[in-house]
Amino acid sequence: MRVYFDHNATTPVAPPVAELMTRVLTDEFGNASSIHRFGQRAKAVLDDARTAVADLIKADPSEVVFTSGGTEADNFALRGVAEALDSGATGRRHLIASSIEHEAVLNTLKALARRGWTTTLLPVDATGIVAPAALEAALTDKTALVSVMHANNEIGTIQPIAELAALAHARGVLFHTDAVQSVAKIAVDTRALGVDLLSLSAHKFNGPKGAGALWIKRGTRIAAILTGGKHERNRRAGTENVPAIAGLGAAATLAGGKLASDAARLSALRDRLEREILARVPQTAVNGAPDRRVPNTTNISFEGVEAESLLIALDLEGIAVSTGSACSSGTLEPSHVLRAMGLSTHRTQNSIRLSLGAGNTDAEIDYLLEKLPRVVEKLRALTRTAQVR
Ligand code: PLP
Repeated sequence: MRVYFDHNATTPVAPPVAELMTRVLTDEFGNASSIHRFGQRAKAVLDDARTAVADLIKADPSEVVFTSGGTEADNFALRGVAEALDSGATGRRHLIASSIEHEAVLNTLKALARRGWTTTLLPVDATGIVAPAALEAALTDKTALVSVMHANNEIGTIQPIAELAALAHARGVLFHTDAVQSVAKIAVDTRALGVDLLSLSAHKFNGPKGAGALWIKRGTRIAAILTGGKHERNRRAGTENVPAIAGLGAAATLAGGKLASDAARLSALRDRLEREILARVPQTAVNGAPDRRVPNTTNISFEGVEAESLLIALDLEGIAVSTGSACSSGTLEPSHVLRAMGLSTHRTQNSIRLSLGAGNTDAEIDYLLEKLPRVVEKLRALTRTAQVR
């Protein structure tokens, strides 16, 4: 049996998405900027996808800019706002983000810091939530932009974005949210969140890799970071990847149609999985806010077990899990998210993430529950033997 519990890293492409992409790849090869019929047909594909994405996040299609994924959307938001303000005389050269952001935000912030921007990373509490008071204390008259992710990729915790955005706006500061891990998992409404910029990525919700979008509220000052032709209303140059964007649109439509039912089904599966692991495996604990999480994610510490060893042992049983963000997997770096929550070093190294998706079933949860206790016991016994020697 092969079981995939790593949907926050990426998801399989849904069959209707793959079908549409294949058709577009072969039939709609025109350049969407061309005036002739071939070009106009490709443009119509882009228009449909733009509407589908806008519908999913309750936005206007004209505010959706296609990107090569979540990383580019995050870069565009931060670098684009920074550059737009750089050339003005506002004197705002301060950026704020949470300390548990994805590397796409954290490393972009570092790059801007090297170019003279001051940056502040907001702390989170023991459950991974940013306190509004912490943002209020960090905002200054020099702040240009705040970036706080909607849902965290490692622990699934959902931030109080509407409250945080209102605090930023009260000081005349723009607000970006990386919603890569919340879009298609929970209802995401750009107006209700009250943000100015929002990132999303197709491969996190059964669409293709290399396709995403930045939603830019009308009137927001932002510079293009990819310069060239007049694509995407002058906001992102480059001939559009029409098949991938069609896939993004199809995945958005698919997700929108089953958002509530998927969320209910996945949270029931996740809750059972979590409950049973805690009951069957001693010395385990859940990381993150149990009542403020996306429905598919759990992050669990196993006392006395190296997360990497557990990941490999489960992989040998045909079960795919993760030690956290896909980028930090493969290194022994403890998770910056769990560290920011104040967990002890050994607990940050004992934690694995299980993230469910549309295809997971009760039978797969049963399979994991059958294998996991023995795998953990074996690894603990090995550690005890090593310690005795
Ligand atoms: N932001 C978050 C929260 C993510 O989880 C990821 C992907 O792991 C990204 C951004 C990057 O998205 P992409 O893989 O589309 O570049």
